[in-house]
Amino acid sequence: MSKSLYNERKMLDDAYKNGYAVGAFNFSSIEVMRAIVDAAEIANSPVIIAMSQSGIKFTQPEYICDVMKAVLENTSVPISLHLDHGKDYELIKRCVKAGFNSIMIDGSYLPYKENVAITKKVVKFAHDHGVEVEGELGTLSGTEDDTSSDKILYTNPNQAAEFVGLTGVDSLAIAIGTSHGAYKFKAEPTLRFDILQEVSNLLPKFPIVLHGASNVPADVLADFNKWGGKMEGAKGVPEELLKKASKMAVCKINCDTDVRLRYTACIRQYLIEHPECFTPREYLQFAKDNLRDMIVDKMTNIMGSAGFGGKK
Ligand SMILES: [Zn+2]
Repeated sequence: MSKSLYNERKMLDDAYKNGYAVGAFNFSSIEVMRAIVDAAEIANSPVIIAMSQSGIKFTQPEYICDVMKAVLENTSVPISLHLDHGKDYELIKRCVKAGFNSIMIDGSYLPYKENVAITKKVVKFAHDHGVEVEGELGTLSGTEDDTSSDKILYTNPNQAAEFVGLTGVDSLAIAIGTSHGAYKFKAEPTLRFDILQEVSNLLPKFPIVLHGASNVPADVLADFNKWGGKMEGAKGVPEELLKKASKMAVCKINCDTDVRLRYTACIRQYLIEHPECFTPREYLQFAKDNLRDMIVDKMTNIMGSAGFGGKK
């Protein structure tokens, strides 16, 4: 790519140093990608745009990288293009070759030794191609993409330190109580900050990643239901907990659920309010603009990354 993607580890190191987190927002269409990039420009924030394995299969990595090339020509903030929850080694290789600059190898569902082995293999391949790698240790509950579990298995801090040493990953996703999907907590939401603190004591200055970190804002959920959606009692991670995590060692906060909820709610709203509409760009524009505003708000008020995009 002519104007290049930004080294993700450098991005996360800056977040660590300055006590904020970079948002990683999932997308599976060009409009959603544009909404994320536009938000980063407005907030003057670094951003990670992430795609899951099923998103990749839906759009094709080569196509995404060609679009990204055009996006980079017209963008000034640091952008990283990341494969979220990579599990299939062949698909990981394809994404690296297509031009992704960061990939996640999710071996967290495997026994520890197998997780170490597959992660090491991916790190070797990716680093040979100048691509950064995120690993995962511990299990989040909930379902996202083809990632699913019905119980939380908190990360063991000593094992996390050993895992990073053995595999050479550039960042690590840990389980401290968040979960995938829109129903994150059955009882009062809490996170195990003691585990996060212990991990960062053992791995000083090492960037930690928080998955399943949508906060499911009340207004977004209310809109979704108001316009014909059906999602009762969904619960996200409270803003205060995300803010606290991003001031600690959490340097990357993943957000997929909120993106999907906001975007879908807006499309529902537009079509119901404009029953005569049959022009996709009209309802997609409405959804894209609203999604962009939600992301600017997250960067500014939750992640604290606004202003760190390097623009004067
Ligand atoms: Zn995840």
